[in-house]
Amino acid sequence: MKIRNRLNPSNPCFSFEFFPPKTDAGTASLLQTLEDLAQLEPGFVSVTYGAGGSTRDRTVELVTRIKRDTGIEAMAHLACLGHTREELRELLRRLEEAGIDNVLVLRGDVPQGASPSTLADSDFRHAADLVRFIREEDFNFSLGGACYPEGHVETRSRDEDLLHLKAKVDAGLDFVITQLFFDNAFYFDFVERARRVGINVPIVPGIMPITNHEQIQRFTRMCGATIPMRLALQLEQLKDQPEALVQLGVAHATVQCMELLSRGVPGIHFYTLNKSPATRMIVSALRART
Ligand code: FAD
Repeated sequence: MKIRNRLNPSNPCFSFEFFPPKTDAGTASLLQTLEDLAQLEPGFVSVTYGAGGSTRDRTVELVTRIKRDTGIEAMAHLACLGHTREELRELLRRLEEAGIDNVLVLRGDVPQGASPSTLADSDFRHAADLVRFIREEDFNFSLGGACYPEGHVETRSRDEDLLHLKAKVDAGLDFVITQLFFDNAFYFDFVERARRVGINVPIVPGIMPITNHEQIQRFTRMCGATIPMRLALQLEQLKDQPEALVQLGVAHATVQCMELLSRGVPGIHFYTLNKSPATRMIVSALRART
C-alpha cells in the first residue's frame, strides 16, 4: 500500500515510528511494543535509519519483518549522507525485493565535529538529490520527506528552508512529515506558508509525547524545537516525579492532537522511541472521542 493513498483529512491515520534496536533484549521489547500498538490499527509504521549507514541491515531487516509478520504497512527511512550511488541503488533494490512500498528520503545528520561544507565529496548532498535519483532510476516507491515547522537547525532563514523544501517536493515527494513540535501554532503557520509557495502534498504533523525530562531537553537542543514557556515550567516542577511528568506529557500531546485533528490534518505521526504506553494512552483517548 502506498502511504500517499492513505493520507486523507476525512479519515486521518495514526502512524508510529521505531528505531532498530541494537540488542536482542531491545528487539524483544520492540516486538512487545509492536504487538501493543498493532491493536490500535496504525495506518503505517516507520523504521529509522542510522546516519552514515550504521543501521543499514537492521533497518531493512526490521521493516521487512514488520510488514511480513504483522501485515502492517512499514516504511523504511533512508539517509543518503556518506553513501555512494551504488550503495543506495543496492539498498533500494533490497527494499523493493522485500515488498516495501514506501521510503522516507532523508539527508541524515552531519556527523559531530564535521561542518556541512565537508559534504562536498558525498555523492548526495541534500535529500532532494536522493529523491531525484530514486525517480530517475524508476523505482516505484511512494516517497516521503522531512520538514521543519520551526526551520531546520542549519538554516539561516525559514523562507530559504521552505524553498529548499519546495525543491525537494518538486523532485518527487508524495508527502512530508514534520519534525516534532509542542506548539501547534508553528504547524499551522508552516502549512499556510508552505501552501503559499506551492507545496501541495500532505504535511503530516510529527508528535513526540514527553516522558522524560532530561531526554526531551536533549532532543529539543538537537533538533531546535521550542518547548513553550508554560510547559517548560511545568516540566521543571515535575522533573523528580516521573509518573506525573508522563501524565503531563500525555495530556499535552493529547490536547495537541485533538486540535490538529479538528483542523483537518491528514494523519499524525508519533515518535514512539520504541515504547508503547504514552502513544497508546493518547491514541485511545483520541479514538474514544470519535
Ligand atoms: P535536507 O532536506 O537535505 O535539508 C537539510 C538542510 O539543507 C536544510 O537546512 C535545508 O534548508 C538545506 N538545503 C536543502 N537543499 C539545499 C540546497 N540546494 N542548497 C543549500 N541548502 C539546502 N535522521 C536520520 O539520520 N535517520 C532517520 O531515520 C531520520 N528520520 C527522520 C524523520 C523525520 C520525520 C524527520 C523530521 C527527521 C528525521 N531525521 C532522521 C533527521 C534528519 O536526517 C535531519 O534533520 C537532517 O539534518 C536533515 O535531513 P533532511 O532530509 O531534512 O535534509
